Amino acid sequence: GLPRRLGHIVDAPARAQPDHPALIAGDTVWTYGELAAITAEAAAALRQLGVRPGDRLMVVSENGLALAALVLASSALDAWVVVGNPRLSAREIDLIRDHSGARRVLYAVDVSEPARQHAARHGAAITTLGRLGTLGIGPLNAAAVPEPVEADGARQAAALLYTSGTTGNPKGVMLTHRNILFNAAVTQVTRAPTPADQIYGVLPMSHIVGFSIILASSLMAGSTVHLVPRYDPAAFVAAVAAGTVTMLFGVPATYQRLLEHKSVAGLKALPRGRLRMLFVAGAPLDPALKRQVEAALGLPLLNGYGITECAPGISGVRPDAPRQDESVGPIIPGIEVRLVGRDGSPVAPGAVGELHVRGPNVMRGYYRAPEATAAAIDAEGWFNTGDLARLEGDALFIAGRTKELIIRSGFNVYPAEVEAVLNAHPGVVQSAVVGRARDGNEEVVAFVQLLPGACVTVSELMAHASGQLAAYKRPAEIIVLEALPAGATGKILKHRLAEAAQEEAA
Ligand code: ATP
Repeated sequence: GLPRRLGHIVDAPARAQPDHPALIAGDTVWTYGELAAITAEAAAALRQLGVRPGDRLMVVSENGLALAALVLASSALDAWVVVGNPRLSAREIDLIRDHSGARRVLYAVDVSEPARQHAARHGAAITTLGRLGTLGIGPLNAAAVPEPVEADGARQAAALLYTSGTTGNPKGVMLTHRNILFNAAVTQVTRAPTPADQIYGVLPMSHIVGFSIILASSLMAGSTVHLVPRYDPAAFVAAVAAGTVTMLFGVPATYQRLLEHKSVAGLKALPRGRLRMLFVAGAPLDPALKRQVEAALGLPLLNGYGITECAPGISGVRPDAPRQDESVGPIIPGIEVRLVGRDGSPVAPGAVGELHVRGPNVMRGYYRAPEATAAAIDAEGWFNTGDLARLEGDALFIAGRTKELIIRSGFNVYPAEVEAVLNAHPGVVQSAVVGRARDGNEEVVAFVQLLPGACVTVSELMAHASGQLAAYKRPAEIIVLEALPAGATGKILKHRLAEAAQEEAA
């Protein structure tokens, strides 16, 4: 059986292999035995700081040892952990602090400069808390009201994670202990990490992939996680060459930056050391990027699809069945999915529909947003992902987001298809396609980031697109930008581009 609380995830490995490294950050190694002991110390410290069962504890930190221990400790106290990415702006951090009603905010001031700045802005006291090290401790929020504690791990929230807000304002996703433990348990089947695995933990734990897949799943397996506060492709290449990495999880931008790095660019193949699996998730994967990564690293790039609200796993390409195409793999075991047409009924086999999910991975709801929760999860427990997808055999293919679907003269235009065509142009680094309302119709607008130094004209790009796309899919306008606006996890902020496209036309 599964542990009932996330905080118990290291109990079994701490008994079985107390001296095995659990977490590594810089030169510091915490074994499973130490992690269990430090988690208990951290829980005692939190209690002293006035954090009660049902309170929200916010930790503003890049990936680091104290953050990992505080996540487990807050779970042991039945508090909810809210992880704030220090790279968010002051406005965004304050929004999360205020919306969550956090009892305390702690800042990992010696992990990153941005965390130190947020701590200073909030008047945090710099304190050393035993083996957790130096933290900024924000003032006690006396007005914080604890939420009722649920004995059932399927109801009790373990984490409140705010979505990156690529489609609007961030929403606080209440993830229960069961959501996260279910996801971690499924990972043991689908990816089968072992204690010998060393995971390069570069995706932030403030995001569900870092929290659930990198931290929780790896600890359940008794593997070793490298906590990397900031992604530096050179450091990754060095760690791989030193033989200390077996698995990398990234978003597409992680791999894009790796390929751009000078120690990789120009090399036919990178020395692989013990590296054995490459995973990518979180955003559409450009097929050209997949091919380049596979050529450079000599390993299949395994694409997985998920969403914060599903803790996050929904589907993933299995290491024993890598794919050449754009599939995001089979649906994970233990959940149900259905594909629904615009009229609410199931689509024909093979057709594109809106993907709904039901199962132990589906969030409890959005915090303090009952209307948004009711709009996302129906009375029968089906969660609407807002993504369009199709099934080919047991393989899932993502067509794009419902909200981002462009309807041009009654025809569906999937931005991902247009982006793939633009990205295939040798002068293009990446692109983002949005819809623009015009004269009662919608037109296609493409934003493009060119390779530094590339001399490509907009009319060349237009000609390239016209050669490969039906007329209704072709961009009405192509706008070249120095860089595409991206959120803290590297995702392109399409809502900003949609606004920019609209303004451009006005
Ligand atoms: P917000 O909901 O506020 O816009 P967000 O969408 O960035 O924030 P996440 O939960 O991080 O929140 O992202 C989930 C979304 O990312 C999915 O709904 C899907 O659109 C997209 N996505 C995730 N993985 C993949 C993938 N492998 N291929 C294509 N799209 C993906």
